[in-house]
Amino acid sequence: MLAHELGHYLGLGHIFFSFNTASEAEQFLTDHNNNPNVFDADGLSDTLPDPYIGDHYNTCTDVSAVTLNGIVFTIPRDNIMSYYNGRTSLSPKQMELARWYLQLRMQNGMSMPTNINAPNRRKPTTWASGPFRGAHPVSRI
Ligand SMILES: [Zn+2]
Repeated sequence: MLAHELGHYLGLGHIFFSFNTASEAEQFLTDHNNNPNVFDADGLSDTLPDPYIGDHYNTCTDVSAVTLNGIVFTIPRDNIMSYYNGRTSLSPKQMELARWYLQLRMQNGMSMPTNINAPNRRKPTTWASGPFRGAHPVSRI
């Protein structure tokens, strides 16, 4: 949990888009031509696209993959910027971004007004009306 929050402090976003049900996620995928990358919430190429489905993960804590519209998505359960239990790792690009962001913070006395301009992040405002329309951004907690 602390590592996750520190990840946000260092400019990392969530790796997932959140859906209440699998059918919601499938509809979102259908609306985006079944492109698996539509679930790539942080824009980093080495984190897996993650359709976080609330009703799956609240009741099935050992789910390792989910199939949507015939596409199998491996669940990145160990990534610190996910919402799963037992998170322990970051991808190389997440580490690179965190290091870059730490340098930026150090140049600004360790304070920044916001993380919103962190590179490689998709801004929540695009989720409501852009190519990610229909996804439910999760607040950065
Ligand atoms: Zn968070």
